[in-house]
Amino acid sequence: MSRRNSSKKAQVGESRCTLPDGRVMLRAADAVPQIHSMGKGKGVLKIYPVTMIAADGRSWASWDWDLSELVLPPGAIRGRPHHQFIGYGGPKLWYEDKELRCVQCGEEFTFWAKEQQYWYETLHFNHASEAIRCLECRKQRRSLKMIHSRLGVAMATLSKNPNDAPTLLEAASATLELHRRTGTGDLERAIGFVRKAARLSPQLKAAAERVEGALKGLFKSQLPASSVTP
Ligand SMILES: [Zn+2]
Repeated sequence: MSRRNSSKKAQVGESRCTLPDGRVMLRAADAVPQIHSMGKGKGVLKIYPVTMIAADGRSWASWDWDLSELVLPPGAIRGRPHHQFIGYGGPKLWYEDKELRCVQCGEEFTFWAKEQQYWYETLHFNHASEAIRCLECRKQRRSLKMIHSRLGVAMATLSKNPNDAPTLLEAASATLELHRRTGTGDLERAIGFVRKAARLSPQLKAAAERVEGALKGLFKSQLPASSVTP
């Protein structure tokens, strides 16, 4: 790595930088950094004393990490310490693709460097948190969450307005989706909902019958062969 960044900055008086959270960081022109060697061929880390100023005018002494002279591993992305929520371990200086094992499906997956940067610098996640599920399992989980929230919203609406036909159909469809994925959900109640929706609204009849057919199919598959279907 070259030294161009550090020698240029130091000549222009006090440097001022506004951080993503609105704090202002001031570094004196003559600020003397602590210099940490990262090991042979890995460059140095410079830590400058700075003054931080909050929006309300409060100020305190702090540190600024200068990563410009670090030599990163191939493919790594340089961290931006002041975008991070920094814990006891100090800032993340760079991000590298990581192989992790998914807690849900047990497959190995890559926690990409770019993704890590997004977690820690845009979402401001705690440094101790890491992806524990692969992308596929995360997607599945998110959509399952959405089904639960669809069902919750529909049930809340029905508790106030039990004859709202589109919401009856929505609650039944969400139950159908939930049952397909997890094998749980009240199928009998959902069948009652679609039948009521079909009675209340002729326009919804065809859709309601389609959902009813699918719900009945699931319901049957749950029952012993001799049982009566609704
Ligand atoms: Zn997985």
